[in-house]
Amino acid sequence: MIGLYIHVPFCKKKCHYCNFVIAAAGSAERHARFLSALEGEAAHRRASFRNISFDTLYIGGGTPSVMNLQEIEKVFAVLRENFLFRAEIEATFEANPGDING
Ligand code: SF4
Repeated sequence: MIGLYIHVPFCKKKCHYCNFVIAAAGSAERHARFLSALEGEAAHRRASFRNISFDTLYIGGGTPSVMNLQEIEKVFAVLRENFLFRAEIEATFEANPGDING
């Protein structure tokens, strides 16, 4: 089993006991910088993983659900563009239930 982990370093606020690398309340500009960095990192790593189809994808953090829908779509677009995934992939997206609607 080969998994890909994406760390989204934003939360609504930083919990006092948290040791993860996160920034509280990322602004749209910070989210844009994160997405740009993700795009660059994925492009940089693409060749190293060109012969691998990932079995699992874990998008964690942080709280990935603080991103808006367009930002989340961008994350998946970057991943699809640069990496291969098995059709029956197990995918996990960490979310705060309060961020989910509809
Ligand atoms: S990652 Fe979890 S524990 Fe850490 S600041 Fe965010 S919500 Fe709190």
